[in-house]
Amino acid sequence: MAMIKCPECGREISDTVVKCPHCGYGLKKEVTAVSDISNKKKRYIGIVMCVFACMLFVFALKNITNSKYKFYVENYDIYVAGYEQNANTASQYSSGIFRNGYSQIASGYKDMAEDAKRAIWSYRIKSIASCGVGVFLMVFGIKDIRKNKEI
Ligand SMILES: [Zn+2]
Repeated sequence: MAMIKCPECGREISDTVVKCPHCGYGLKKEVTAVSDISNKKKRYIGIVMCVFACMLFVFALKNITNSKYKFYVENYDIYVAGYEQNANTASQYSSGIFRNGYSQIASGYKDMAEDAKRAIWSYRIKSIASCGVGVFLMVFGIKDIRKNKEI
């Protein structure tokens, strides 16, 4: 507890009192005014967080609806089918050029399928991550806005 001077009557008073005991001057007014400003600022931070969250949701949606992602999704099935078909044909030959040839084509399809799968998941993981961060920002942003609205 410290002693301060009352801005109204100039007498020494405790800094914990709400009103000056001598003249009745309200001391906490200035404090609430300052906290009002900082609460408004906090509300803006909450709004900015929500806006940023919306941007992340849009990014996530765009990331799994863009043409590259679609290309990989569509081609993955084709590559898998190509692998199965060629591996099956290769298995019909006990040995020789045909077996080796079809096996080689099958392994080519398998590699392409694996690359496509990797690409698909990199798009998905990016989207999931940005959605996660978006939800996080949204929750804290709304909390900030609501908390500072009440004051
Ligand atoms: Zn006073």
